[in-house]
Amino acid sequence: MNNQRALVLFSGGQDSTVCLAWALARYAHVETIGFDYGQRHRIELDARKNVIASLRTQFPQWSAKLGDDHMIDLTVLGQLSDTALTRDAEIKLQANGLPNTFVPGRNLLFFQFAAALAYRRELSVIVGGMCETDFSGYPDCRDDTIKALQVAVSLGMGQRFTFETPLMWIDKAETWQLLQMLGGDALTEIVVDNTHTCYHGVRDQKHAWGYGCGECPACDLRKKGYERWRAASTVNAKGSA
Ligand code: ZN
Repeated sequence: MNNQRALVLFSGGQDSTVCLAWALARYAHVETIGFDYGQRHRIELDARKNVIASLRTQFPQWSAKLGDDHMIDLTVLGQLSDTALTRDAEIKLQANGLPNTFVPGRNLLFFQFAAALAYRRELSVIVGGMCETDFSGYPDCRDDTIKALQVAVSLGMGQRFTFETPLMWIDKAETWQLLQMLGGDALTEIVVDNTHTCYHGVRDQKHAWGYGCGECPACDLRKKGYERWRAASTVNAKGSA
């Protein structure tokens, strides 16, 4: 049993739900932190509550370890940056090759606010769903960025923090597989039914992989990952039969 206490960056999306399950399977005590920075779709913030409630109902052994959920107002981020995530704009690539959904410095701020809270709550591990295999190439999702930040924050706060990113090197199909390994069909269903990914905030179209428009880059990534995972599971099942 790992006696460490962890704080999970939890947005209510698929990736951060996997991170939360991963932390609950591993640590003695887990708390969650979310940020309101004027997201285009408050649906994502509502998804957080539904995911946590479902986890508590269906995984009592995890519920016992799951502590407080903290919500931090970061609407100032919406004032600083003009992006497709904080206002209504078409999603497109910018001249620098990054999509206009990139909120500059977002993950850097998230980790620093999380660490300040973790310091007060005596939590030594901070878990985030950053991933280098993601298509968008956000520079603040890179492994080196997170590692450098871990060192800077630990030095600056005079306390050793460990920043864990369990999804860093796996793709979307492997993320679905990790979910299955952590919590079986019950956890996969919680993700399909409750988590939100779609950039357009579509909640009235349900697919095997969840709700969404099915067309935007976020839906496309989730859908393709799900389909590759299902195809691989079918092959494995046939192989072992
Ligand atoms: Zn979509």
